[in-house]
Amino acid sequence: LSAAELTEASYKRIAETDERIGAFLTLNEEGARARAAELDRSGAEKGLLHAMPAGIKDNIVTKGLRTTCASQFLTNYNPIYDATAAGKLNAAGAVTIGKLNMDEFAMGGSNENSSFRPVRNPWNTDYVPGGSSGGSAAAVAAGQVYFALGSDTGGSIRQPASYCGVVGLKPTYGLVSRFGLVAFASSLDAIGPLTKNVEDSAYVLQAIAGHDGMDSTSAEVAIPDYVSSLTGDVAGMHIGVPKEYMGQGIDPKVKESVLAALKVFESLGATWEEVSLPHTEYAVAAYYLLASSEASSNLARFDGVRYGVRADNPDNLLDLYRKSRSQGFGQEVKRRIMLGTYALSSGYYDAYYLKAQKVRTLIKRDFDQAFEKFDLLLGPTAPTPAFRIGEQIGDPLTMYLNDIVTIPVSLAGVPAISVPCGFVDGLPVGLQLIGKAFDEATVLRAAHAYE
Ligand code: GLN
Repeated sequence: LSAAELTEASYKRIAETDERIGAFLTLNEEGARARAAELDRSGAEKGLLHAMPAGIKDNIVTKGLRTTCASQFLTNYNPIYDATAAGKLNAAGAVTIGKLNMDEFAMGGSNENSSFRPVRNPWNTDYVPGGSSGGSAAAVAAGQVYFALGSDTGGSIRQPASYCGVVGLKPTYGLVSRFGLVAFASSLDAIGPLTKNVEDSAYVLQAIAGHDGMDSTSAEVAIPDYVSSLTGDVAGMHIGVPKEYMGQGIDPKVKESVLAALKVFESLGATWEEVSLPHTEYAVAAYYLLASSEASSNLARFDGVRYGVRADNPDNLLDLYRKSRSQGFGQEVKRRIMLGTYALSSGYYDAYYLKAQKVRTLIKRDFDQAFEKFDLLLGPTAPTPAFRIGEQIGDPLTMYLNDIVTIPVSLAGVPAISVPCGFVDGLPVGLQLIGKAFDEATVLRAAHAYE
């Protein structure tokens, strides 16, 4: 197949399905067609992702292609540069089909916080696809693109992957450059692939990983050959199952699928044992304090002056800021900005932000200790399968608890993948495999052997 044919097939599928699903916010038809024609013409060596139709979450900036973060604030924002990850996809030969819907500024876990429209789960359109990378997961699940990039701050790649029955990888913090990712919580944000299978995940990671001088938190580590680490061999691997990830709040049927997956690992020669990550119960509280604090600072740049939508008829400069921000941000974003501003204000800083930072250290230590003994940790990706659209929207606390088993991993900064491990009540559920920092090769190898 030529790049042109693959590109056309992608747009055809989008035309057939996206009215129902709502995965795309902006299509890149002209750009993608020109690019495909150029790839077909060029005699240059083919890249790792040659001609592959890709979708990019709309908080990853793309040169000349509208990037909205699913916010009314950025409906007119056309970036003048590519995020490093987007540039690397281009260099590897991928074709950018368009920009994918998400929760506004990546805040949410159901895609209902998109200011344009919610995304619907391709398996059952009455259900949410998860979030915040819901458009990325749904587009891959619906066969609209070959793979997608998402971002994960507290579970936003893994949880939608679980709900949509696709593979989602959150790399180690710092492995993939954040340059050009519109910041939500800078100490947690990670870009990663959503794919149909683990092999594709390894290919995309190979293309986007690596040190970048444009991101001061980008790690200077050697990038292994992820694809060749997919040997199918997990014999002798020792897996820890955090008991906190299999207890209260986890749907018993989800737990059953995880136990069935453990049987598969046993049959492949791996061993497993229960382990405790004792500070898990504090993770959600610490995360929402830290992530909201960082967000309140990061989102200060949206002032209606430099870029984005500017409110009409302000009385003065302060009024311009106030009006632009009141009109531009949605409810959940405002909730986080207020929470974060409060937590960082003098008099409260020690009680909230500093305390949450200390809890984060304890959570990281839980993982360090577990990894002294285990090669890998395993559990569910989310406590339940997808829920109905509208079911949790009035209840932010319940919504926040959906990330109870992805958030600790984000706080520790370690890599984790979600791979489909069956169906509960007709909806897909995911298995989460968690690795040591920068040991994506083991995570991918185990996921591939299981899949
Ligand atoms: N659902 C979580 C939140 O609302 C995680 C979001 C994310 O990872 N971007 O913050």
